[in-house]
Amino acid sequence: MKALLLGAGGLGGPAALSLVAAGVEVTIADPDRVDPTNLSRQIFFGDADVGAPKADTLAHALRERFPLARAQAIDVRFSRDNAAALARGFDLVLDATDNFPTRFLANDVCARLGLPLIHGAALGWLGQVLAIAPGRTPCLRCVFEGEPPVGEVPACAQAGVISPLVGVVGGWMAQAALAIVRDRALGRWANAMRTLDGWSGVERWVPVGRDPLCPACGLAREGNRALDREGAEC
Ligand SMILES: [Zn+2]
Repeated sequence: MKALLLGAGGLGGPAALSLVAAGVEVTIADPDRVDPTNLSRQIFFGDADVGAPKADTLAHALRERFPLARAQAIDVRFSRDNAAALARGFDLVLDATDNFPTRFLANDVCARLGLPLIHGAALGWLGQVLAIAPGRTPCLRCVFEGEPPVGEVPACAQAGVISPLVGVVGGWMAQAALAIVRDRALGRWANAMRTLDGWSGVERWVPVGRDPLCPACGLAREGNRALDREGAEC
């Protein structure tokens, strides 16, 4: 099983650790460098890593822990120009990024390619994971319709995020990835988004459903998916 992990930060690190330990081949894509402000929640990085490429540093840490680990890095930003080309060839994608444009781009590309996608997000004390099996479960646009207006939702850099929360949510992402690729009954992942309020400790499975008019995965998109697999870029 080959997974493309977008983001080597607070969510990506724990997700990658669990996947690699389970024998999954993980390719980590992240163009950023380690910043001192990352260290409180991105636990694979230390003071000596400040300024180093995040993806390569995380992949190296995983290989040090598990010498047989199949973990590699690509130092690129997942963008409209390269998204489809990057995602092709993987069995699934995990989105552990921290911005809405990349989240919805990953959703749309995976819907077009028919690739499973695990969406994870954390902000402040709140975290969420949505497991998306194309054609079977709701996608990000079914649930959220689209990106919020710029500035409406603060970024991690402004609102902060709690270190133990991203550890839990990153682990959930790996759990969902294994469940979805084994293609057994998805259980509650099939029709619910898993959320956690780290302050109160309340975990919820929020019911979600497919939108037949969804621009990414709705009925109008189904007929085009085969064409998209042939090579159309997003
Ligand atoms: Zn959808």
